[in-house]
Amino acid sequence: MPDYEVVVMPEYRYRSEILAALLLHGVYPKPTTPPALVHEFVSDLYRFELRRLRDRLVRGEIPRDGYYDRVVELRRKYPLVSVKPEFWTVPLYHGPMPLTGTVRSKLPTTGVSIFTTMTQLANEHGAINLSQGFPDFDCDPALVETVAKYLRAGFNQYAPMPGLLALREALSEKVVRLYGHRYDPVTEVLVTSGATEALFSTLTALVHRGDEVIVFEPAYDSYVPAIQLSGGEPRFCTLRGPDYRIDWDDVRSVLSPRTRVILLNSPHNPTGAVLSRDDIAELTLILEHTDAIVVTDEVYEHIVFDGLRHESLARYPAIANRAVVISSFGKTYHTTGWKVGYAMAPAGLITEVQRVHQFVTFAVNTPVQHAYAEVVQADPVRTDLASFYQRKRDLFLSLIEGSRFRPLACQGTYFQLLDYTPISESDDTAFALQLIREHGVAAIPLSPFMHEPGARGVLRFCFAKKDETLQRASERLRAI
Ligand code: PMP
Ligand code: GLN
Repeated sequence: MPDYEVVVMPEYRYRSEILAALLLHGVYPKPTTPPALVHEFVSDLYRFELRRLRDRLVRGEIPRDGYYDRVVELRRKYPLVSVKPEFWTVPLYHGPMPLTGTVRSKLPTTGVSIFTTMTQLANEHGAINLSQGFPDFDCDPALVETVAKYLRAGFNQYAPMPGLLALREALSEKVVRLYGHRYDPVTEVLVTSGATEALFSTLTALVHRGDEVIVFEPAYDSYVPAIQLSGGEPRFCTLRGPDYRIDWDDVRSVLSPRTRVILLNSPHNPTGAVLSRDDIAELTLILEHTDAIVVTDEVYEHIVFDGLRHESLARYPAIANRAVVISSFGKTYHTTGWKVGYAMAPAGLITEVQRVHQFVTFAVNTPVQHAYAEVVQADPVRTDLASFYQRKRDLFLSLIEGSRFRPLACQGTYFQLLDYTPISESDDTAFALQLIREHGVAAIPLSPFMHEPGARGVLRFCFAKKDETLQRASERLRAI
């Protein structure tokens, strides 16, 4: 390395950077050398380091991405230096580049979701699929035409990041009509890529390392991973059969100063239970003693039976002030594959959710948002959906009458729990597999909704299916 005497002149523009670079190399400036020489010295240092780095790369001592990272680092260290392009080029390497070391999983205990697994098994075994929750009938053809209209009209570029204003306005109106609460469409409504993204972005925005989230089990499968990825800790409260109501004493017992979120789901997947007004009263009492935020998953809001009312938290201003209400179009319009949902909350909360949404999804697909805006405006209430599914539930129940399965109460959603203990003592996953392999019907065990496996006795059957599908499946279930 050349033996320079170095001076740093006070008026020199990049004085601090040069000084930093020199000190990094253990060179201490002396007050005699002109700035041009300093620059030359820094350039030499840079070239010297770069050359050494290239040699190591060629000798295979560092991987290529390591090389580039290091070059970027060097550029940062020597911001003054410009270098000829040939210094940037590296000999092409065609050999194998295996990863050294293992990738450390952030979700080491998570496998493929039970819904994917069961649908795949159902397909492999040609079983009738009452497992994953999706209709086996099509959505309204007029809705497809509406999407097509927007596709053809060229609405094919990014929508605004928080969602199409027309859709946010339609949703805001819908909630006023249904639940009496007005969310500002501009600042309090966010369109997301399904409820899954709304949940993920919300939990990511709200949960900090060490925060606790109260989760009711059985719990929808995306909740806990979203909490864990943020460094949060789920605190579980068990919903016990046969009615799977919330035990509010349990909630009080897990509540702590670290409780950040209480995560509710009504109508509830997989149990079909819905929150009652008594539940809301209990929740209100609890909220008086904590700063927790309520996140509520209401994707089955329109599928509530037997004259019961959906107790959206948007109905209760005191709670709505500190709640994120999440829903989805998938269940409401028989379009689970379009993956559009939304979150509503006071502006301060939505702003935080939006900050995450911006980098998870940025914006949701445009033509579908236009189409939903039209249909929500035309029929915000979706009154016929509950009776549509109630008829399906009742049909399914009448068809399995005489089987050895015992139905549990189903107040909402499109899932029916069946108790299979008169047939088998196996755990639920084993019995679900047996049901697919030996009897050709796929259902969902509840254990994957619990943090400890080994649940027994109950399987979930989806009745969002054509009548003939329910008939064929029931024949098989009756024969067991
Ligand atoms: N929450 C619950 C309770 C669900 O059942 C589902 C999906 N069926 C979702 C969230 C996810 O909804 P989306 O498909 O809109 O992401
Ligand atoms: N929510 C659907 C169910 O409960 C499945 C969605 C999914 O496959 N992720 O069956």
